[in-house]
Amino acid sequence: MHTVYLGLGSNLGNRKAIMHETIGKINETIGDIVLQSSFFETEPWGFDSPNKFLNACVCVDTQLAPRQLLEQTQRIEREMGRTHKSVNGRYEDRIIDIDILLYDDLHINEPDLKVPHPLMEEREFVMRPLKEIMK
Ligand code: ADP
Ligand code: MG
Repeated sequence: MHTVYLGLGSNLGNRKAIMHETIGKINETIGDIVLQSSFFETEPWGFDSPNKFLNACVCVDTQLAPRQLLEQTQRIEREMGRTHKSVNGRYEDRIIDIDILLYDDLHINEPDLKVPHPLMEEREFVMRPLKEIMK
């Protein structure tokens, strides 16, 4: 079993319902949710938008290998209706974003999968919920 921390963010639609539904899908298809942070409302980071985010982190016990985990988080993003990917580090409004923050104490540095998530430590909207559940 592997311990994984995921970061979630939504700034479109009924954000709270979307976050709860996403966490439900994570619990069904990735593994048991061990810990779940509060939802924090945050300003968009790296782009201008009137739509604030809700952010949260969850800790999940999973049997999935890192790449299977990425495939599954991206499948959930698509199921939730996310159509666009960020390109060249440009950010935009999104229904749901699921980022893999930590996977055990593994370090992965591949073009499409970097763990720990490279920008997490400079992102208050990631670290605040993460600190809440990483005791
Ligand atoms: P962002 O989360 O930066 O707004 P996206 O969700 O569109 O952007 O993801 C862009 C790419 O980031 C994905 O195609 C994915 O392959 C890559 N990626 C690299 N490392 C990770 C990670 N730890 N968690 C999630 N995606 C990652
Ligand atoms: Mg992402």
